[in-house]
Amino acid sequence: MAGFPIEFSGRIKALPPYLFAAIDEMKQKAIARGVDIINLGIGDPDLPTPAPIIERLKQAAADPKNHQYPSYEGLLSFRQAVAAWYKRRFGVTLDPASEVLTLIGSKEGIGHVPLAFVDPGDLVLIPSPGYPVYPVGASFAGGVPHIMPLLKKNGFLPDLNAIPQDVARRAKLMFVNSPNNPTSVVADKDFFKRLVAFALEHRIIVCHDAAYSEIFYDGRRPPSFLEVEGARDVGIEFHSLSKTFNMTGWRIGFAVGNKQVLAGLVKVKSQLDSGVFQAVQEAGIIALQSDDQLTEGLRKVYQERRDVLVPGLKQLGLEVDLPRAAFYVWIATPKGYTSTSFTAHLLEKAGIVTTPGNGFGEAGEGYIRMTLTTSKERLVEAVERIRNAGL
Ligand SMILES: *Cc1c(COP(=O)(O)O)cnc(C)c1O
Repeated sequence: MAGFPIEFSGRIKALPPYLFAAIDEMKQKAIARGVDIINLGIGDPDLPTPAPIIERLKQAAADPKNHQYPSYEGLLSFRQAVAAWYKRRFGVTLDPASEVLTLIGSKEGIGHVPLAFVDPGDLVLIPSPGYPVYPVGASFAGGVPHIMPLLKKNGFLPDLNAIPQDVARRAKLMFVNSPNNPTSVVADKDFFKRLVAFALEHRIIVCHDAAYSEIFYDGRRPPSFLEVEGARDVGIEFHSLSKTFNMTGWRIGFAVGNKQVLAGLVKVKSQLDSGVFQAVQEAGIIALQSDDQLTEGLRKVYQERRDVLVPGLKQLGLEVDLPRAAFYVWIATPKGYTSTSFTAHLLEKAGIVTTPGNGFGEAGEGYIRMTLTTSKERLVEAVERIRNAGL
């Protein structure tokens, strides 16, 4: 059988180039040489899911009523648990039936939402540096990403005044992300107020990604977008149990907010997936009902790590801010380095894997990202190794 050349679609061919290929190769070579790699490149919690959540899954998995297809929008009991958590955490009242939607992880909802609202040629406003799913989700729907650069001079928040009038007019949807990956910056309510006004004026659907809302430091809880008046009229907020409860492998998240936007998203989902395993939703209820009991300890661990790594990097002369939330450290590359060359330097000379900032979009050039998902001891060692390697 000779077969025929199998060709990828235009949308796959148009995907951005994979910027980590060279770094991956260097990493593999270092491992093959026997280098003891410290991996500060992974955005995935290293600690296990708390035991009560696992216990609930075990019970629920054995119950035959959970073995059939779940509903598209999710168990009402899970959505009620979301609404109750939201009320306690943010003081915002949600109708579980129409203003909460269960997702197979928030990535799923983020990737699918443009299919419901973006037509070919429509503009989608995207923060850069940012989560790569925003531009890819927009492009898969035929949308055209318009980049909002996150610059230091604007506190790494999108500058709404810098968005040209004709772009704002043609934009259908905007992604925003606070606490932010990769910068760890937190938007305050004042920013959200300006965002709601902007979205109302230009009729733009806001999709706010709050995956890191519960990973915060010094007791300063990040606000929800929906705490601001009018937010529910213009958009939705994505949440995830992944980072909050060390559940990245479980695939469960949710979206809350505008009914019409959620209705569009569930229309797409009902054609493509069949919901989240009910036993996982049952376990998710336990997680949400636990409030701070399961998360306070995790935050403490990340804060201890942050307080080792960031002052250590500062002592070495690196330019870095103490994160208020999320588990990322966003570091300006020292003089003479690009994102890529600094990443390569740390790998070759110190055996440390980091992520070049330009991997999150062009506006990330001049920075690298380190993660706090490694033990304190290893972070101490990482600082020591960089000291020895020199900048
Ligand atoms: C990790 C992450 C998510 C979501 O992950 P899920 O596991 O799909 O819920 C969403 N947004 C950002 C910015 C992330 O870093």
